[in-house]
Amino acid sequence: MSNNLLSVTNLNTAFRTAEGELSAVRGISFSVDKGETLCIVGESGCGKSITSLSIMGLLPSNGIIKEGSIEFRDRDLTKLSKEELRKVRGKEISMIFQEPMTALNPVLTIGYQLREPLMLHQKISKREATVKGIDLLKQVGIPYPEKRMNQYPHELSGGMRQRVMIAIALACHPQLLIADEPTTALDVTIQAQILDLIQNLKDQFNMGVIMVTHDMGVVAEVADKVMVMYAGEKVEEGDVESIFNNPQHPYTQGLLRSVPDVDDPSFELEAIPGSLPNLNEQIDGCRFHPRCPFATDRCKVESPQEYELHGTHRVKCWLQEVKHDANTRETVTT
Ligand code: SF4
Repeated sequence: MSNNLLSVTNLNTAFRTAEGELSAVRGISFSVDKGETLCIVGESGCGKSITSLSIMGLLPSNGIIKEGSIEFRDRDLTKLSKEELRKVRGKEISMIFQEPMTALNPVLTIGYQLREPLMLHQKISKREATVKGIDLLKQVGIPYPEKRMNQYPHELSGGMRQRVMIAIALACHPQLLIADEPTTALDVTIQAQILDLIQNLKDQFNMGVIMVTHDMGVVAEVADKVMVMYAGEKVEEGDVESIFNNPQHPYTQGLLRSVPDVDDPSFELEAIPGSLPNLNEQIDGCRFHPRCPFATDRCKVESPQEYELHGTHRVKCWLQEVKHDANTRETVTT
């Protein structure tokens, strides 16, 4: 039986604006298996959150999926009606966000917000949903769960609110959890607890997890595989060891150089010069070339092809052509 849960193929997402149609996600493909964590990394605005909102069918009203398919358990989510997608959301795929207050309703009690998805998707009574809700709060490590059921979001700390959102996301045992910067707003200790919690729940329920983050420290902690995005494109992907031990794309290398190395006090942090282009900026060739220290004339006019390295490691950069040709020459002469 296939272990595959989600296959995204050639996804193109754009926004209709007064300036015309602006591309936010450009032809990306990836997959997630059961029990696997894929980290999507890149700076804010690189298209990683738009990718997850495309999967959830939660794009803003001017957002459209222009092309591509999102196969989730043999159904193409891009072909489902709003109603069909609403049933998948919350039950089979759940999402947690950076700021729980944007997802939690401030005027409804925690208990109400936990019972609602349970009663909707599992067709159980209010009494049964209350028992399950208390149980879920216990599972995510919330003390005095009975008392919390009657409290409002503002009465809890940031870490507790994030746990509540995870409890709501897990209420119906989703097969895929999408976590969009779930720990960015939290302090380091709470961040570690929340990441551990997600990992434990993933193992317990054999869930697939997509973790969207700009933080390579988080990636090192939780990822099985990594997809690096830049300006709407996938520039490198591979298992976590390949990405950390043998990063090939200059952007991935830059991201890794901007993470402190706790084992090496002499390690010097380096920021990637420049900034991400705006969606309306026209860039020919490689979209990273204005910031790339290795850019050649060709990089400025010709978009690089994707090269396959070892296993599942792939990279989109012209520098690979030289290495690829050298390897081929070596193979021919030996
Ligand atoms: Fe840099 Fe050229 Fe590679 Fe783009 S294709 S990342 S500009 S070397």
